[in-house]
Amino acid sequence: MTLAAQRILVIGGGFAGMSAAIELRKRGADVDLVEIDPGWRNCGTGISVAGATLRAFQQLGVLEAFLAHGAASDGVSIRLPHGPELAELPTPRIAGPDVPGGGAILRPALARILADAARAWGTRVILGHTFQSIDQDADGVDVRFTDGQHRRYDLVIGADGMYSETRQNVFPDAPKPRYTGQACWRAVVPRPPEIRTTTLWIGPTIKPGVNPVSQTEMYLFITEPRPTNAHVERSTFVDQVRALLAEFSAPVLQTIRDGLGPTSEVVFRPLEGILMPRPWSKGRVVLIGDAVHATTPHLASGACIGIEDAIVLAEEIASRPHIAAALTAFEQRRWERCRMVVENSWRLGEIEIAGGDKAEHARIMRESHVALAQPI
Ligand SMILES: Cc1cc2nc3c(=O)[nH]c(=O)nc-3n(C[C@H](O)[C@H](O)[C@H](O)COP(=O)(O)OP(=O)(O)OC[C@H]3O[C@@H](n4cnc5c(N)ncnc54)[C@H](O)[C@@H]3O)c2cc1C
Repeated sequence: MTLAAQRILVIGGGFAGMSAAIELRKRGADVDLVEIDPGWRNCGTGISVAGATLRAFQQLGVLEAFLAHGAASDGVSIRLPHGPELAELPTPRIAGPDVPGGGAILRPALARILADAARAWGTRVILGHTFQSIDQDADGVDVRFTDGQHRRYDLVIGADGMYSETRQNVFPDAPKPRYTGQACWRAVVPRPPEIRTTTLWIGPTIKPGVNPVSQTEMYLFITEPRPTNAHVERSTFVDQVRALLAEFSAPVLQTIRDGLGPTSEVVFRPLEGILMPRPWSKGRVVLIGDAVHATTPHLASGACIGIEDAIVLAEEIASRPHIAAALTAFEQRRWERCRMVVENSWRLGEIEIAGGDKAEHARIMRESHVALAQPI
């Protein structure tokens, strides 16, 4: 197969970058992946996956591994702060009749699955380094690395996340990520048998949720309005989560609260985002994933759209004779879907901060999930 680009560098080994390496290697490209973290760790707690994410895992060839190491389930249970269920939202089985409509997994487990697949497909992985300079001409891109190496590529893919150095290098005037006025607290906690699927408790402005990541564990997430993005002292994390949960008398949340102690690992993350206006490429350098569309987690689809970017980009590289045509087609296929996820997630956050219209919130959730079920 003749590809629009044969020698390809992926900058960043997150979910989007690893997926790009897998899909491009499958099609016969020579792929280098440079990841700045020498341990190639993906820290954090759990990650929720929607039906569209499971469909993308199927394409990548990692669905079986996900099902073995994560948890899949149908529906989202919406509950009142004291516990009773208000509604169970259906989650369509997008990945096929035998694959549930959603699920979750520990982030390090998903990162290991994708890293193993990227290596098994023959990606050349360079850890603990990054690029020093990127210089392109009409025929290729010269990249100098921080280990002193120098290589020439047909295409460079910037998949280095929300604070992308690649974006800064190629689009110095691009907008910067902005704080949305909400923060998210997360932890991995024991899973009681009654929690079978994603479960959310709807408070006036605070929204705790849990999602099973295995038979025995689930991950807890709580979104909270915070007008400013001020530093929060780590030593206060557990007490702050306990205080947020105190408002919810649902027995599951009170059991979690009672179980949190000085040794509990709580992750705090102010919610920021960016939607970079088009174009997402310049010449032979293209950006994917959070580098161009970092979303808040309200639709649990940030990783999904980054992985889909990788799949679509590889398809276009393999089906067009020239890079320019492939990158234009890539952007045309991706823009509206990614814009929808980022902007609808922002709006959901605004409604939550204001304690606003629950009907609008429900409508945006519903419409977004219908849109995400469409083919990519
Ligand atoms: C609180 C929170 C909860 C979320 N929950 C969900 C969820 O439930 N479901 C979901 O689908 N999404 C969720 N998301 C979004 C999701 O985490 C991201 O969209 C996704 O991880 C982005 O993947 P990425 O590969 O584009 O970027 P990243 O994950 O940021 O990966 C970038 C990689 O590039 C590396 N890197 C950085 N700079 C350089 C450099 N200069 N050179 C080389 N390498 C570099 C980094 O070390 C990293 O490995 C959530 C986000 C937040 C903030």
